[in-house]
Amino acid sequence: MAQILQPTEENLRLLRKFLSFKGLVGIPSETVYGLAANALDAEACQKIFVAKGRPSNDPLICHVPNFESISKICTPNGLAKKLADKFWPGPLTMILPKKSIVPDIVTSGLDSVAVRCPAHPVFKRLIEGCEFPLAAPSANPFSYISPTSAEHVQSGLGNKIEYILDGGSCEHGLESTIIDIRNPNAPRILRYGALATEALEKALDREIAKPPKDLKPNQAALAPGALPKHYSPKTCLKLRNTPITAKEAENASQNTAFLFLRKPSDTRSKTDNIFWLSEGGQLDQIAANLFSALRRLDESHFDLIIAEEAPELELGLAINDRLRRAASQ
Ligand code: AMP
Ligand code: MG
Repeated sequence: MAQILQPTEENLRLLRKFLSFKGLVGIPSETVYGLAANALDAEACQKIFVAKGRPSNDPLICHVPNFESISKICTPNGLAKKLADKFWPGPLTMILPKKSIVPDIVTSGLDSVAVRCPAHPVFKRLIEGCEFPLAAPSANPFSYISPTSAEHVQSGLGNKIEYILDGGSCEHGLESTIIDIRNPNAPRILRYGALATEALEKALDREIAKPPKDLKPNQAALAPGALPKHYSPKTCLKLRNTPITAKEAENASQNTAFLFLRKPSDTRSKTDNIFWLSEGGQLDQIAANLFSALRRLDESHFDLIIAEEAPELELGLAINDRLRRAASQ
């Protein structure tokens, strides 16, 4: 099993050194836990793909301590600066033209690279002392539910890595929003995530192109790695676009779990197959609890999970994107 380390200065020094010698480390972020390696070292990054069982055509996001340091790995434009001023550090990933210092394995051979400056205080401290950017996808076996705690990383990858840095549970619980800004006149959202697109549109005072709602495999051509089946529990998950009633859940087989967006008000008695993601339907709470709730249900005895779709706005778009992929066979 991996050692779970607390974020003391001594441990951070040890981990930076370990990373500089091609090591992989499970790290906390404000989105989900990541599996980090030196982004400028092809051999180190290759280990990420092996540990996760991730296909080589699914490129990695490179994390940097500040906006200035992205110039080493990509060519920023005015829009990148504007977005970074407003949303970095935070859950926004930008796609920009890559520089040759970034190994091809990181970008799956593309001539663009994904860059993000994380806000999590522990990730920040780690990366501020590193002499290289950190490539870090989510720290889970490929296509399983993303991890939002050090224990989740341990259960999924503990036998494949040596260290996990503990930074508590993730604030957002959803991956970053990805925006392609290579053409600053035509920015495009590639993945919904923890930063609502409405906030981006407001900041830019314009509409931004969105990903298609239907999950077709050829969508991968637009956003490499965006596969229809992802974030998936082993238990079959079905999505409802109409509200579930507590009565329905109470009358159903005890082998079916019902995942409500908010605590149902009409629940008669405590039943063991009713779960909710928030008290009052707040989207940030639903997002923060989504992956850990799916894991808990997956570890229970249920043979079917029925989940409610969120409203199609703000974080609801990212929540539904994850739920649809989780429900995809
Ligand atoms: P994650 O696995 O959550 O770290 O997310 C990585 C995702 O970022 C990939 O699956 C891609 O969809 C996206 N991505 C990374 N690099 C690029 C790139 N150069 N161009 C387009 N999308 C990218
Ligand atoms: Mg992932």
